[in-house]
Amino acid sequence: MKKVVKFGGSSLASAEQFLKVGSIIKADESRVYVVPSAPGKRFSEDTKVTDMLLRAYESASEGKDIAEEIKAIKARYDEIITGLGLEGFSLDKDFEEITKILKENPQKDYAASRGEFLNGKIMAEYLGIDFIDAAEVIFFNAEGNLNDYKTYKTLAARLEESQRAVIPGFYGMGKDGNVKTFSRGGSDVTGSIVAKAARADVYENWTDVSGFLVADPRIVPNPKAIKYITYRELRELSYMGASVLHEDAIFPVRHCGIPINIRNTNAPEDAGTWIVESTCQKQDYVVTGIAGKKDFCTIFITKAMMNAEIGFGRKVLQAFEENNISFEHMPSGIDTMTIVVHADEFIDKEQRVVSAIHRLAEPDSIEIESGLALVAVVGRGMKSASGTAGKLFTALAAKGINIKMIDQGSSELNIIIGVKNSDFETAIKAIYDTFIVEKKK
Ligand code: ADP
Ligand code: ASP
Ligand code: MG
Repeated sequence: MKKVVKFGGSSLASAEQFLKVGSIIKADESRVYVVPSAPGKRFSEDTKVTDMLLRAYESASEGKDIAEEIKAIKARYDEIITGLGLEGFSLDKDFEEITKILKENPQKDYAASRGEFLNGKIMAEYLGIDFIDAAEVIFFNAEGNLNDYKTYKTLAARLEESQRAVIPGFYGMGKDGNVKTFSRGGSDVTGSIVAKAARADVYENWTDVSGFLVADPRIVPNPKAIKYITYRELRELSYMGASVLHEDAIFPVRHCGIPINIRNTNAPEDAGTWIVESTCQKQDYVVTGIAGKKDFCTIFITKAMMNAEIGFGRKVLQAFEENNISFEHMPSGIDTMTIVVHADEFIDKEQRVVSAIHRLAEPDSIEIESGLALVAVVGRGMKSASGTAGKLFTALAAKGINIKMIDQGSSELNIIIGVKNSDFETAIKAIYDTFIVEKKK
């Protein structure tokens, strides 16, 4: 049995948290490869080390003195080193080098990556195991995507040489020879890559909640943890804002039969969530999870006899394509069609899109509305359960929420509903109560 264990920022924010992580690793000798994040927040107003480094980079690139900023970052690490009692170990030389590089040639990704690099060095010292610099084993191609071939070949060979090792998360080496990071939260991706290269049996992802929860804990108090979730369900929920695991973290492991187990560093006895390709485990609820995002716009288009006009939909979508806007949903009627887009992408270009639709598709009218929130209700069990949509609509009607849009995926894995931004939280709570709380009664 071989496990890869990734620990998130809050799990490594202080010496106290490091000690918990140490006990977790020591409790199971199959936990052989460790992927740490940078120290995260110790309390809610605290700043993540990655953000401190990014600020230092900004200052350095404006030619400002960064001595104070570096001092504050170093203090975070020194508190951990002292708290762990790592006598004779110091990061002084590393900080000298980082400061020098930031002054002479400031680079954003390099700066951001140092959070994981330095935490990895402490972790390796604390556990007494090898340190493998991710820049030597994880590679990006010229387009900025993972260079699979080179990465897996190099990393697998390097892991063969180390029975136990620490590989810092979040970064690798770019095609141009400079350090490059994944997008924020990317240590999850590193963990997945290491799990694949090591042919691990399990990828454990340790965070500050007891698994993937049915709903966002910031909206629903104490939501239940999901026991088993499939990669497809997880992808739907992550895309819609459930941000426990980086969206790209499932790709390396999903076709290798390596399950991901989300666990809580502060409650290691909890079983957490298993993310798997497929399962016949019995589900407690028809709905696996609920997630959502605010701030979408709808473009409502009418044209008499639209249904008979071949190519109408293509012409409308071309107007969005010409303006480089991706659309989220496209519910339609006989003479109407609605395009749902994210406000961020659309607002600055709205009049250009309207004029392009008029030019290309010659509709009778176009109406734009903003302030729409989308809520995704996801569950592999919905396919075989009847009445799910009815229950959903009853729950929302009981709270006086007007449903502005409905879209059911053809796989019957999800139902997406559109509600006003101001109804967003109430809608999620109502759905949770209907499918999870009332189910128990
Ligand atoms: P880490 O630093 O360990 O990588 P993250 O902050 O990236 O942790 O992810 C964990 C956080 O995700 C939780 O603290 C929680 O606030 C948030 N979250 C949002 N939606 C969910 C959900 N459905 N289930 C669990 N956590 C969620
Ligand atoms: N430290 C990085 C971030 O804050 C990566 C991670 O935590 O996964 O985004
Ligand atoms: Mg994370």
